[in-house]
Amino acid sequence: MPGQHLPRGEHRVKTIAGELAYFVRGRARQNLKVLVLYCVFLLAVILLNALTFRFLMLHLEGREFTLIASVYWTITVMTTLGFGDITFHTDPGYLFASFVTLSGVVFLLILLPFGMVSLFLAPWIENRLRYRPTKGVAPATRGHVVICGLDPVTRALVSKLKARNIPFVVVTDKYEEALRLEEEDGMRVSYGNPADAEVLLKLQVGGARAVIANLNDTDNTNIILTVRSLCRTPLIALVDEPEHAEFLRLAGADQVIPLKKLLGHYLATRATTQGALAHVLDSIGKLLVAELPVHGTPFSGQSLAAAGIRERTGLAVVGMWERGAFTIPGPETILADRAVIVVVGTREHLEELERLTGEKTEEDLVLILGHGRIGCSAATFLDRRPVPFILVDRAVNPLCSEHVAVIGDATARSVLQGASIGEAKGLIVTTNDDGANIFLTLASRHLNPHIRIVSRANREENVDQLYAAGADFVVSNASVGANILMNILEHKESVFLTEGMQVFRFPVPPSMHGTTLRTSRLRSRTGSTVIALEQPGEKEMTILPSPDDLLVKGMSLIMIGSPEQEAFCRRELH
Ligand code: AMP
Ligand code: ZN
Repeated sequence: MPGQHLPRGEHRVKTIAGELAYFVRGRARQNLKVLVLYCVFLLAVILLNALTFRFLMLHLEGREFTLIASVYWTITVMTTLGFGDITFHTDPGYLFASFVTLSGVVFLLILLPFGMVSLFLAPWIENRLRYRPTKGVAPATRGHVVICGLDPVTRALVSKLKARNIPFVVVTDKYEEALRLEEEDGMRVSYGNPADAEVLLKLQVGGARAVIANLNDTDNTNIILTVRSLCRTPLIALVDEPEHAEFLRLAGADQVIPLKKLLGHYLATRATTQGALAHVLDSIGKLLVAELPVHGTPFSGQSLAAAGIRERTGLAVVGMWERGAFTIPGPETILADRAVIVVVGTREHLEELERLTGEKTEEDLVLILGHGRIGCSAATFLDRRPVPFILVDRAVNPLCSEHVAVIGDATARSVLQGASIGEAKGLIVTTNDDGANIFLTLASRHLNPHIRIVSRANREENVDQLYAAGADFVVSNASVGANILMNILEHKESVFLTEGMQVFRFPVPPSMHGTTLRTSRLRSRTGSTVIALEQPGEKEMTILPSPDDLLVKGMSLIMIGSPEQEAFCRRELH
């Protein structure tokens, strides 16, 4: 896919540009001036010799040559080519020709190459050889995030950290990677083995906000043990194998994120048309956030007001997905059959919805393309519902003894048809190759126009292409991972809905104790909407409170808004 290869190509261009840039910087720039002056001098010598040649030929031997011919003669003699097609026949002429040859040897064949090597080539090679990647950070650095292992997830995190002005440093023990990353705009890199105590001390790990261990499970264990031998800095580890989570915790990690397992759940949640409780994505206090496909519910095709979801179940509809676009629906918004609504409420509310929509709307069959760690986790999730599924993979998953997959390349039409793509209600596309994922999404949409397709994007830049190929829902590894990490780093209690939209909890500030929601003017002041009030002790919840509801001490507001709006609330409301 074109998008996939872009970064590498871009990088090559950057490197060449970087090398060229070397010649216009600092001392090299000074030397470039010397070279230009020398060339002007050479031109003057050639011209002077040519004019003298013309004069001598005319006066010594009575032969007349044009200026072009004179320059030609001078150059062939100075470069010691000496074709011999134009020659002197007198002693003074021979003397002059010898002088021109010698001046050519000195100025053109000795001084020029020597100057080029000593002024440009040698300093450049020296510069490359002397290059030492940065090791460590300034001794006064505090509150930074130390990132071990840069991949699409931590890259997405880096851009979030940059946007929030949180300092960070990426550590790598690969020389080439350090060199490459240091040339990248705004990337802070340090060269060294992150499991080495001395390296960590130079990174001021004791004063860091957090350390993120994102290498393989064994290397992560080493990092965690070393950091713990030095300080109590919060440690977040991403784990490949969920079974290893316990070891990483024992080693001293504060948070262990089984990202691939979570991604599998995200995919599975969105691929079935089962009852409401099967779609819970996350929770905040007692509030559950669920994403429910409209398809198969009695609300399909109705307006939000007519559907009366709030009146009938107590749930708040806080968002709607339609082919990759997230909107906050108003009373008039039509709940399209292929849309997915985001609802917030308690378990009781969701049970009420489940009663309303029926436990099982139809016989589900979900096809899972890719039985790696993520596909396997999706299968395990569906197995528990239980939802029937068929797995397809090129190879047998050596880590899984639970599932039996159809073996074959999913991009072959016969394999897809053999795996009953025609009968399946849902499809999870989860190979590690985005090119294949885009192709599979497109082919499946063609083979079964009504199937619910949930696709995985291994790289952020392929999200749009997956939607364009016909996915109903795209789960981006990088974006989900970076949001989980960011939520932990900012110690906030929030649930990520989509880029720029989250549900967060915020204690009622003292200045608002005793006011009502209307008089607090929260929405006009902050831009975010209160979707629930949490009573002290989390016993009671008021979902979609009325403007006249009283705000009291100890109460928490559950709000929906952008990360910036949340930051504004925490900063400005006291
Ligand atoms: P993971 O990244 O751990 O979820 O693994 C991805 C899985 O996708 C691996 O098990 C691969 O064998 C599988 N895979 C990659 N390309 C294809 C393909 N074209 N057809 C079937 N399976 C594939
Ligand atoms: Zn499995």
